[in-house]
Amino acid sequence: MSTILPHYKQILKVTSLPNTSGVYSIVPLFTDNYLQVSINLLNNFNVNNLKQYAGVFKSKRAAEELLRELAKQFNLCLKLCGLEKTQHGCFAYQLKQCYGACVQEEAADEYNERVSMALLPLRFKSWPYAGEMQVAEKCEVTRREVVHYIDNWVHCGTTVGGKGMRNFLPMEERAEFNYDEYRIIVGYLSERE
Ligand SMILES: [Zn+2]
Repeated sequence: MSTILPHYKQILKVTSLPNTSGVYSIVPLFTDNYLQVSINLLNNFNVNNLKQYAGVFKSKRAAEELLRELAKQFNLCLKLCGLEKTQHGCFAYQLKQCYGACVQEEAADEYNERVSMALLPLRFKSWPYAGEMQVAEKCEVTRREVVHYIDNWVHCGTTVGGKGMRNFLPMEERAEFNYDEYRIIVGYLSERE
């Protein structure tokens, strides 16, 4: 696949930015049949695990605030969302806003479905291609052809005039995810649709 990329300058700019260190994401994991949610620090996380994460936040507090909002909106359990530590039913259960997942009163399947629904808009998109995508364009200054290689949301290299910096490392070794890059690539692909 080869096409013209309007965001060449932006892509070059983001590759020189520091990677996504010090950002947080929401991670749902099954514990005793119920989906429990935690907020984890993401330090150059591997793109192969991207599907596990929901959202990117500049601080733990920002992630907690959104999670609290989602818990209210989707009647989620504060204990299973990691927002309250208790041996008993959570505070929301007492207010009948949590349907009792904390005391195994609500069926796990029903509860888990609401957790999935709540986190769905925050989930990372799956890479829509079978493998690497190539994006070609002419450099405004030198008029030479520049080709960007993008795989699984990672900008893995650029060649200029058929030569250059292409990175042939296996995916596991080069797969440092950069959230700014991800957003630009998602924006670019949705414009093409
Ligand atoms: Zn609860």
